[in-house]
Amino acid sequence: GASAGGEKIKVGIKFDQPGLGLKQGDKYTGLDVDVATYIAGKLGKTPAQIEWVQTQSAQREDMISSGQVKFIVATYSITDARKAKVSFAGPYLIAGQDLLVRADDTSITGPETLAGKKLCSVAGSTSAQKIKDKYPAVDLQNMSTYSECVAALVSKGVDALTTDDSILSGYASQDQYKGKVKVVGKPFTQERYGVGLKKGDTAFCTQVTDALKAMVSDGSWQKAVDANLGPAGYKPQTGNPPAPDACA
Ligand code: GLU
Repeated sequence: GASAGGEKIKVGIKFDQPGLGLKQGDKYTGLDVDVATYIAGKLGKTPAQIEWVQTQSAQREDMISSGQVKFIVATYSITDARKAKVSFAGPYLIAGQDLLVRADDTSITGPETLAGKKLCSVAGSTSAQKIKDKYPAVDLQNMSTYSECVAALVSKGVDALTTDDSILSGYASQDQYKGKVKVVGKPFTQERYGVGLKKGDTAFCTQVTDALKAMVSDGSWQKAVDANLGPAGYKPQTGNPPAPDACA
């Protein structure tokens, strides 16, 4: 028979972002995985009761509103446009959009130096939207995932990749890419990562917000940041840890 709390909970993460959400065989690691596991724990779920679901950038709002996942922790920036479709608890990290280029490239130093260059990003991301809005002269090529972009960068199919510095530093420190790529290191946006959940579910949003607050105050947040982002040398910018308070 069913035991109390024995049901699995479906949680959306990225599967291909080292340090944040990474699937290797049946192992899941990263800050987003740790944040999600902490939240699930406060909801009475053991790690074994979490079913990890891949939520690519362009799919997130739909996967929440259709109920395919209960919540999403996937480098998911809180924005007004998204708030029209989903609600967010958070923020739990503040990152910034940056550029990843080949290690020997000295010509690309910021988004204003990208005119005529091939820039890879991901459909449905704030990263791609920012380029479309502010740098229309750039040859933007959208893929489904950032890992596809890094592969294209190394094989010279594109000249740069843009998304959050937190994500880019993870790729730059991977064995297969070490010495081949570098983060430009001049973030040009603020990305406030939130936990996405069903629009208007204020009771659940409050539960998640309380879990995030507890994660910061009991030291688990700092531990998770150090363990997951530390190896890539990523240090969260000023303003971290944020006070998770938004439930909108
Ligand atoms: N944080 C940005 C966003 O939510 C870029 C990273 C991503 O696509 O997951 O769109």
